[in-house]
Amino acid sequence: MVVIARTDPHAAHQDMYDAHPDWIAVDASGKKRQHPVMPELWITCALGPCNFEFMTEVTKEIVSMYKVDGIFSNGCSGSGPCYCEHCRCS
Ligand SMILES: [Zn+2]
Repeated sequence: MVVIARTDPHAAHQDMYDAHPDWIAVDASGKKRQHPVMPELWITCALGPCNFEFMTEVTKEIVSMYKVDGIFSNGCSGSGPCYCEHCRCS
């Protein structure tokens, strides 16, 4: 048997939005992006601290605590263009 853990870094609940509003993807008009299928969720920026800092720590915790053979991180490559503070050129 092969055990694959799944994480879903592409979307966040309201509590993550409230704690880290800069982790949420922004559209070209400057509006935070809601999930297209589950509007109670927010789309995260693939190139910001959510993926590169937070999810790295989540992944380390999973592989240190559980004997998984791999991790599938749904949507970690992003959900289209983002115009958040982390993606904009200064
Ligand atoms: Zn971004």
